[in-house]
Amino acid sequence: MQLCDFKDIDISAYGALVVGSGFAGSVVARELAERADMRVLVIEKRTHVGGNMYDEHDESGILVHRYGPHIFHTNDKRAFDYLQRFTGWRDYSHEVLADWYGTYMPVPFNKNSLEIAFGQEQGQAYSEKLVEAFGDERKVTINELRSRQDLELAKIADFVYENVFLHYTLKQWGLTPEEVDPSVTARVPVFISRDNRYFQDAYQGMPASGYTPLFEGMLAHENIDICLSTDATSVFELEFESDEENAPLSAVYVKGSAFLGPIIYTGPLDELFLSRFGRLPYRSLDFVYETYAEQYLLPAGTVNYTVTEDYTRITEFKHLTGQIAATTTIMKEYPRPYDDPKRQIPYYAIINDQNNAHYGRYRRMTDNLGNFYPLGRLAEYRYYNMDVIIGRALDLADKLCASAGA
Ligand code: FAD
Ligand code: UDP
Repeated sequence: MQLCDFKDIDISAYGALVVGSGFAGSVVARELAERADMRVLVIEKRTHVGGNMYDEHDESGILVHRYGPHIFHTNDKRAFDYLQRFTGWRDYSHEVLADWYGTYMPVPFNKNSLEIAFGQEQGQAYSEKLVEAFGDERKVTINELRSRQDLELAKIADFVYENVFLHYTLKQWGLTPEEVDPSVTARVPVFISRDNRYFQDAYQGMPASGYTPLFEGMLAHENIDICLSTDATSVFELEFESDEENAPLSAVYVKGSAFLGPIIYTGPLDELFLSRFGRLPYRSLDFVYETYAEQYLLPAGTVNYTVTEDYTRITEFKHLTGQIAATTTIMKEYPRPYDDPKRQIPYYAIINDQNNAHYGRYRRMTDNLGNFYPLGRLAEYRYYNMDVIIGRALDLADKLCASAGA
């Protein structure tokens, strides 16, 4: 990877500018550098590349994720194949257990969970009821289950709602499951199956040597330079069509001249415009790490605390990475309101009509500037998994390469 100091760079040497080095920024940077032979400058405000996928060894030598546990899973063969260029894979299927007053049961809630919750006989009877209502091996959202007018289904629905969704969602979002967008709880359906895996995607695993080396490999190209610890909001000068508050962006100046090549912006759009329409709402997280002199502490990669505790979940990284060591490190996630952009990270967009409309005001500011491309979970204000971002980045790269004649 070629690192450089922003004060030393000659901006006229670059054909494209990328803000942020998560999957959105890194995939486009690599594609433009390689396929369109463009010189690309990546600006990253953190001290490292890799966005929220960044991992590193902690003081006890355990490989940990610094911005939330990241498990790769997808049905998009193109995204999976693309990453294969930069990493080998550790075969890993994530499993999550709910801690239900000290008893573990699989999440997504499934036939095995039913038997743990209700006993074998009643659990099996309920499983049959679910199969009859929805079919075997089917996924049903908690909202759909709760909408059924059937006494037995209502008993199952009430149990799952109360013991899996309600308290966890209140902790995670500060909202009830009814108050969050239905697509959020739909991510974790009730699964009428004995499959205990968290994801059923065709391709799943962990990068064999971790995410950070994957990113370093992706960004190691002679046409890519990276400025770390450089915040786009402090090096961009924005020009608008007029002085009106809603006036669209007409140019982005960098080091005194308008940058005319593609600008791929993967940070929060409200921050770019100094929150002129008010800050977009996000949820943030605090992570608390603990290291123990034990091989393993938990029976699965993640335990969700669905009825007790202030934290939502604990992840034990060694399950994910397969690392062999005498000690183990776990991480607890404490959800927080996002109210201090200087100290906190906007992890989750809070999707609803009002917030989408609020985002729309910022997005429209960029519509007239033909070389400006907001991309990624932050810049698009969406709840995207990694594979979706890789797919979107490859689509944008195809478009930009085509218009560059490559
Ligand atoms: P990011 O990874 O957030 O990268 C954006 C980059 O832009 C960052 O490096 C940031 O520092 C930089 N940046 C922002 N503003 C500026 C600026 N002004 N100037 C310069 N740089 C800037 N997905 C999965 O598929 N599987 C999982 O298991 C999974 N687990 C997750 C767990 C948590 C807790 C969270 C929050 C997300 C999880 N995700 C998971 C989603 C995944 O993190 C995102 O899909 C992915 O990070 C999106 O990549 P991105 O490049 O859009 O954004
Ligand atoms: N959820 C829940 N209980 C669980 C798991 C998930 O209530 O045990 C709900 C909660 O609202 C959460 C959402 O489902 O925010 C999506 O969960 P997921 O595990 O996909 O969240 P992420 O890994 O993205 O934080």
